[in-house]
Amino acid sequence: MPESHNPYLGDYWRGGAECAKLPAKEADYLFFQENPNNPKRGLRAEPTRLAKDMCQKCPVLKQCLKDALNHPELAGYGVRGGKSARERQEILRLGENAINKAIESAGK
Ligand code: SF4
Repeated sequence: MPESHNPYLGDYWRGGAECAKLPAKEADYLFFQENPNNPKRGLRAEPTRLAKDMCQKCPVLKQCLKDALNHPELAGYGVRGGKSARERQEILRLGENAINKAIESAGK
């Protein structure tokens, strides 16, 4: 998660994040198509797909998804841990077993 968009998380893993290598503007475009505070921005499939592909190559994918699912207040925003906001919302809705399964299978 790009630092400029990630004030909520600790930075113990940030140094290895694939998305942290991107310029902030590009990261914002790819990772934050889903943003409830910006109604003009609709979910575009291609940048979201590219962001999710980048996550699959990220060395901190599992940690990132775990962090994301531990912060349900952020579930409406962007791609994190290889999952879109909608996907994370669905995992959270399904409950603890689904959350644990998603984290366990991240990066495999
Ligand atoms: S898993 Fe994705 S959102 Fe999370 S740090 Fe890596 S590239 Fe960024």
